[in-house]
Amino acid sequence: MQIENVWAREVLDSRGNPTVEAEITVKGHKIRAIAPSGASTGTWEALELRDGDKSRYGGKGVLKAVENVRGPIARALKGMDPADQEAIDRAMIELDGTENKSSLGGNAMVAVSLAAVRAGAMAEGVPVYEHVGGDHATMPVPMLNIINGGKHAGGNLKVQECMIIPAGAPSFSECLRISSEVYMSLKGILKDRYGVGAINIGDEGGFAPPVDTVDEALTTITDAVSAAGYVPGKDVFLAIDAASSEFFEDGVYFVDGLRLSAGELADHYVELTEDHPLISIEDPFFEDDFETTAELTRKVGGRVQIVGDDLFVTNSKRLSKGIACGAANALLLKVNQIGTITEAGEAAQMSFDSRYNVVVSHRSGESEDTTIADLSVGWGSGEIKTGAPARGERTAKYNRLLRIEEELGSKAKFPGVSKFRI
Ligand code: PEP
Ligand code: MG
Repeated sequence: MQIENVWAREVLDSRGNPTVEAEITVKGHKIRAIAPSGASTGTWEALELRDGDKSRYGGKGVLKAVENVRGPIARALKGMDPADQEAIDRAMIELDGTENKSSLGGNAMVAVSLAAVRAGAMAEGVPVYEHVGGDHATMPVPMLNIINGGKHAGGNLKVQECMIIPAGAPSFSECLRISSEVYMSLKGILKDRYGVGAINIGDEGGFAPPVDTVDEALTTITDAVSAAGYVPGKDVFLAIDAASSEFFEDGVYFVDGLRLSAGELADHYVELTEDHPLISIEDPFFEDDFETTAELTRKVGGRVQIVGDDLFVTNSKRLSKGIACGAANALLLKVNQIGTITEAGEAAQMSFDSRYNVVVSHRSGESEDTTIADLSVGWGSGEIKTGAPARGERTAKYNRLLRIEEELGSKAKFPGVSKFRI
């Protein structure tokens, strides 16, 4: 089977910004995928190529990236076997020739890489999760972001994401049902306590209430868990993504109304894990602070998942540095941070080999594309974070996982609490 054509167009993401949709033709079928886009992006991510032409989309147009797909990428990929993902990705990496994908654009490459994995699966007549993973299929435990802060919302809360992990449930579908019930319970509590404006939502579908501290946010979520009839710390656990580079300035962290050194912030996190059923902390320190991340991991890593997002940017080189010094014990895997599925898969493998957990992740700017749901199942990551159990671009992934679970039937493995150090 051969790739007959490669095409691209500018479409909109969930924030209303333009992004790249790639389209690969195999056997006359057009297979599509859309590049996601971050707001709290790491410095070391693959470059998102934007036009900079202020007369269109305020400079955020992606026509150059689209042209790169229609021109050089299409020429390189036409005639290739759609099922050979590695060869496709390597051809693009070679063509780009830069460390950060700045020549073709990470957004152009990731859209094509995602479309290729879908086209490859179609060519082989199997679902995407089977195409990438054979029979390793494992349903992930979801981490659902139900209070949005930081760059994803307009309030005072500096910590970007407050999530629930319903790991006590026996299956993915039960996790999702519990999450929806807790989300609705939280909606009622927020309305009662803060007024109707508190149920406005942020970029990832979570509420953006006028809470000032992460402690207040976690307490409110715990109340919502109990009010929904579940036991915090048994049925449902909590997680945060501090995305702390966003509140780090000249060596100081400005968070929760405090002004903290790295050491003081570490103590703040330890306290939070003692006061709440908090079992996962992402990007606790700014993106280049491997050292304090390692210190916190040594301190609480036996019972808390410490996740590297901006720290690792799904880049095997940065991940191996982290592994060598014991920074974090989990990788946040975002395919667009590195640009291709092959390189993201290498980072996942490196994590598994070093007993690091892997959380497959969406971006705050998303689309109806569901490929990451299949990657999480096929690679057996065991965890996925893809926003609240609300808003179409988030539920598209969760609903895809429901279909996969149904398809797998009794073969559907589910790790539940065993994924965590609790
Ligand atoms: C994150 O930081 O984990 C995230 C999903 O946000 P963004 O896509 O804005 O980086
Ligand atoms: Mg993050």
